[in-house]
Amino acid sequence: MITTRELQSNSNAFTKAGAVKPPVFKRENGFAVQGANDIYSVSIQGEVENAVIDCNCKAGQNSKPCYHAASAFQVFLNDKAKAAKAAEDFDFELISAELSQPVQSRTDRLLAEQAAQIQTLETKVSQLERRFTALLNRVETEAEFVDYVNTKYSKAY
Ligand SMILES: [Zn+2]
Repeated sequence: MITTRELQSNSNAFTKAGAVKPPVFKRENGFAVQGANDIYSVSIQGEVENAVIDCNCKAGQNSKPCYHAASAFQVFLNDKAKAAKAAEDFDFELISAELSQPVQSRTDRLLAEQAAQIQTLETKVSQLERRFTALLNRVETEAEFVDYVNTKYSKAY
């Protein structure tokens, strides 16, 4: 069993991991790393900075940093970075949604302004209708008056 610090302070393990590039497979509880003659199990528990790393190879069983552990740790780091990136993307989506809010409220404001204008126009139309009706009544009254006068004086002549 070794810690992140112990593994990272051993550059040889990473140098060999980089040179050999052994296939690393993810397992439910860690990684399987293809060694020279065998497949080794590497488990990594905990967070990146304070992880506890185990490899069941001979070096690993003696708490020595090996290139299997280094290879698995690199995959582990990649996965963490991907997860962080996904979380960032998710944050970005949330922020985008927040930023689209002002546009929405702007649309709402424009719609409200239009509704107010329509209301004003409707009020004006009904005022004109009332005036028109009043004028119509007056015209009828005047027409009746003219008819009355005509009738009255036509009889006189
Ligand atoms: Zn090992």
